[in-house]
Amino acid sequence: MNAVEVIASKRDGHAVSAADLRALVLGYTAKEIPDYQMAAFLMAGYLRGFTHDETVALTEAMLDSGERLDLSRLAGPTVDKHSTGGVGDSTTLVVAPLAAELGMQIIKLSGRGLGFTGGTLDKLESIPGLRTQLSTEELIAQVDRTGLAVCAQTDDLDPADRAMYALRDVTATVGNTALIASSIMSKKLAGGAHAILLDVKVGSGAFMKTVADAQELGRVCVALGTSSGRATRALVTDMSQPLADTVGNSIDVREAIEVLRGDRDSRFVDLCLTLVGHLADLSGIAVDAESGRKQAEKVLRSGAGLERFRRLIEAQGGDPCVVEDTSLLPAAAISHPVRVPQDGWLARVDAAAIGRVSGALGAGRAELGDVIDPAVGLSLNAKIGDRVARGAAIGTIFAATEVAAQEAERTLLAALEWTSEPVEAPPLVHDVINA
Ligand code: URA
Repeated sequence: MNAVEVIASKRDGHAVSAADLRALVLGYTAKEIPDYQMAAFLMAGYLRGFTHDETVALTEAMLDSGERLDLSRLAGPTVDKHSTGGVGDSTTLVVAPLAAELGMQIIKLSGRGLGFTGGTLDKLESIPGLRTQLSTEELIAQVDRTGLAVCAQTDDLDPADRAMYALRDVTATVGNTALIASSIMSKKLAGGAHAILLDVKVGSGAFMKTVADAQELGRVCVALGTSSGRATRALVTDMSQPLADTVGNSIDVREAIEVLRGDRDSRFVDLCLTLVGHLADLSGIAVDAESGRKQAEKVLRSGAGLERFRRLIEAQGGDPCVVEDTSLLPAAAISHPVRVPQDGWLARVDAAAIGRVSGALGAGRAELGDVIDPAVGLSLNAKIGDRVARGAAIGTIFAATEVAAQEAERTLLAALEWTSEPVEAPPLVHDVINA
């Protein structure tokens, strides 16, 4: 393979052979191909696009760049779920225990990327003592014993994606459907689960801004999973506003515990139950997603999901008492209420801006290696379509200082748009994409 010829071929709109793509990806991972050649190739591909065969070849090459998790020792059914990312998206904390309680074995491996708020690992690590670095042996033994594990992906898993994603991040080449799909699916396939459910987010807080783009990403991911013999499905779900009420780390854990106690009823709960229903269907535990959801509702009402969350915490070295006493979680020095400036209906929300508010308070990372503050963030209880009276409390800023809280309140209110006419709530699930 000649890297310059491959770049030129992609630049000129020709398809690249599977063998050349493989040599490029594996050569780059082995540091034999320099960043500037991979960057040029990624930009050519970003602009020209990739065929289905190229996307499959890219995914397979990335998958083969590292190890695959061998789950054959687990009785199964093994499942995984992945969200393409959004604001207030802590579904894993609720979905994993409910799915495990229904009899699935759920292995959730996460990377530690950049984001407005911390990722799932940061949220969990806000629980005193909890570890997210597990060896493969520990991971398999834990899932065998408890039905679930939520932990960091090892360095040996899909190193090509780690290197390519870091390069895409600094060369404006993230937002291409084939590149996103091969990045996501190579990691999911390496994770080894038999059933894979993708939650493709769409809206102001998501990568994908239109339902059509999200559907396309979902279709490509489902095709990649299915052609590798995995039961794969994608839901296209709303991210036109933060999903959960809280956007942070320890406050998200607190909300998840309240959900698992049965103390909350919200769009967040609704989506969690829907996701578990689809996982149950995909893994053959339920006859369809609707009956899977009913089973999930029953488990939630019984308190068994909360007990399973406690077992997850305990298994990973965390203090399980947090499920009874959430005051054991880190708490911010300042809780500053946010009040509505005018009467009206909440019409639009800039979810990404709200994510940035939480990040600016210290809940996220601008650079890998930044230390996050687990206690800070915000809550926003109003959702699009809600009617709110002037002066009503619609949320809280959790901050380290009063000055930071006031700045966050200003930017949060600027991200909300009110109207004097009634507004319909957006649909929670736009589409379900099957093989
Ligand atoms: N998430 C991923 O894992 N990869 C991408 O390319 C984009 C989002």
